[in-house]
Amino acid sequence: MKHTTLSLIAAIVLACGTSCGASAQIKKNAMVYICTGNYSKVYHLSRSCKSLTSCKGKIKEISTGEAVKNGRHLCKVCKEKASKRR
Ligand SMILES: [Zn+2]
Repeated sequence: MKHTTLSLIAAIVLACGTSCGASAQIKKNAMVYICTGNYSKVYHLSRSCKSLTSCKGKIKEISTGEAVKNGRHLCKVCKEKASKRR
């Protein structure tokens, strides 16, 4: 079991290649998630973000560029997660 998990991680790391070096940088056309209806000013990288679970409105998928254009910034929780993921 443990061995399988490790080789899976190794495969992911290998597949990442050089592009992962810029993983902290958010791609403009990548899809992000926003919560509509509660005047939220942030966008999320993951739909499973714990900040999104408290969303009272609807969760909408838009591009990062669009989110920024709407005056939104990256959610703190998602930002932390992204910086930890190397
Ligand atoms: Zn978030």
